[in-house]
Amino acid sequence: MTNQTLLETLASTEGHATAYELLEATVCDSVSPAICTNPGCGYTTDMEPDQDQGWCEHCATNTVKSALVLAGMI
Ligand SMILES: [Zn+2]
Repeated sequence: MTNQTLLETLASTEGHATAYELLEATVCDSVSPAICTNPGCGYTTDMEPDQDQGWCEHCATNTVKSALVLAGMI
C-alpha cells in the first residue's frame, strides 16, 4: 500500500472526507492518528505525531506510522 492509500484509509476511519482534512485536524494536536503499514492490517490508533515505528497490537511488529509521517510532514 502507498502512503497516500494509508492516509486515505486513516482519514475515513477517523471520520474525515479527505487525507488533507485529517492532516489539517492533526497538525495542531499533541497526538496523531496512526495506521499500521502492513498490507491488509489496517490497525489504527493514536500515537505521537512523529512516530514512524509504533507498535501494532495486531501484527506484533513496529509498523505503525502517524498520519504526519505518512504525509512526509515530519
Ligand atoms: Zn498491523
